[in-house]
Amino acid sequence: MSAIDTPTVCEVAIVGGGAAGVLAAIGILRGARRPLRLLMIEPSLPLGRGVAYATPREEHVLNVPAAKMSGFPEQPEDFLDYLNTVPAFAGVPRETLAAQFVSRGHYANYLRERLQQAVDTSPAQLEIIAARVQALQPEVDAVRLRLDSGRDVQAGKVILAVGNALRPLPARGASSLPEAKRIEAWDYAALADIPVAADVAIIGSGLSMADAVATLQANGHRGRIHVMSRHALLPLPHAKGAPADYDPAPLLVMNLRQRLHALRQHAADAAVRGIPWQSVMERIRPLGQALWQSLSADDQRRFLRHVVRYWDVHRHRIAAPLHAQLLEVQRQGRLQLHRGRLETAVAEGACVRLAGVDRWRRPLQLEVQCVINATGVEMRAQAMRNPLLQQLLGSGVGRAGPHGIGVDTAPDGSLVDAEGVVEPRVQVIGSLRIGSLWESLAIPDLRRQAAALQAPCR
Ligand SMILES: Cc1cc2nc3c(=O)[nH]c(=O)nc-3n(C[C@H](O)[C@H](O)[C@H](O)COP(=O)(O)OP(=O)(O)OC[C@H]3O[C@@H](n4cnc5c(N)ncnc54)[C@H](O)[C@@H]3O)c2cc1C
Repeated sequence: MSAIDTPTVCEVAIVGGGAAGVLAAIGILRGARRPLRLLMIEPSLPLGRGVAYATPREEHVLNVPAAKMSGFPEQPEDFLDYLNTVPAFAGVPRETLAAQFVSRGHYANYLRERLQQAVDTSPAQLEIIAARVQALQPEVDAVRLRLDSGRDVQAGKVILAVGNALRPLPARGASSLPEAKRIEAWDYAALADIPVAADVAIIGSGLSMADAVATLQANGHRGRIHVMSRHALLPLPHAKGAPADYDPAPLLVMNLRQRLHALRQHAADAAVRGIPWQSVMERIRPLGQALWQSLSADDQRRFLRHVVRYWDVHRHRIAAPLHAQLLEVQRQGRLQLHRGRLETAVAEGACVRLAGVDRWRRPLQLEVQCVINATGVEMRAQAMRNPLLQQLLGSGVGRAGPHGIGVDTAPDGSLVDAEGVVEPRVQVIGSLRIGSLWESLAIPDLRRQAAALQAPCR
């Protein structure tokens, strides 16, 4: 047997070194009371970046204030404590910093610093492997992972933290466009290289669109910006204001229609008292998962079909200055919002011709120099173009989650296989749990899930 055939053996292997994987590693390192071998397998180093925090661009800011971004439930001010040590924020009063929407790159640095501190003080040992896991197979004594390097890992426990994938551009011909004409919104370097005079089309009008516009603006872009999406809803801003004080618990026993009606009523009542609707949404944030789980399956389906986009813009808001910038570019006539559906994308000479239909099914045509795919997070695991997820679902080791989104998990996060059998040795954290939890993407959800993983490793 050659060295490469000998599996690496460890007690815990974390697959994915984005925010969720790093928070899980910190939790395990901090919780360990004895030496144990922990592996982190991530193809894209340095750790802690994932898609959200990999951006080096100053204008790409967190979408919540710094005060709410601690990685640890028991240390709610930890991210603020970290920012206080960053030279760029020297002299900024803590209260000012708490309310700031800082550049996302700081978050990856924060996670790495806390990981290093946990490594330095833990009896457990962390080994980082720069590779992609291609297959996962539970066996009698361990869970076997096959890496793209050809190496195998045998782990007593696996934490799946493979995170987010961008939806493909939903247009016939899109995959044949030359690379320079079809830019993924999360390819921050390509975004920054768009010529300043180019007319561009951004498909999708959510948070990634706001990032793209911010980069174009930061680069002094002069061309036209067409934004096309099904609902043409721009992200809404955060607002300062008093907290809402209604009791959200009764929402849990209402059906979807009643909940929407009640929320509108709470927003109207709040407005009368000078409280912004944003505070009404903040009030239900801690109940996000309970609200999803208490909906009937039919209402969950209705939500996904009819409400989700409206939910997204009210729930996932952006910093007020970023929102003001979007409105200003729109007011100047440089950003045009199109409500419609893209159907085809064809390269013609220096241009890309986009064709689709508007909301009245009338033809909609655009001619631009490049198209930016900002269609957002893919929710269906089998569509994520991740070989590991395709193997999991194809082999029956896992199955799609409720409504076909994410993967199916037990209430404790254990993977559920195609027969409905729970595999407690494979724990899922992050956005793959979307079908079961809905709110399983942002840092407050990830930090709770990561903290819950500590106990078995003591
Ligand atoms: C653009 C953007 C901005 C965001 N801004 C915020 C914000 O301001 N605040 C907030 O709370 N949340 C924000 N979010 C939500 C965000 O998704 C989470 O905060 C967090 O980044 C998710 O981390 P993750 O580790 O689950 O996923 P990811 O960040 O996607 O990381 C997953 C990691 O797994 C690795 N991986 C994938 N497949 C494999 C494999 N087969 N083998 C090994 N490794 C693999 C990937 O390389 C990647 O590094 C944002 C999301 C996006 C997309």
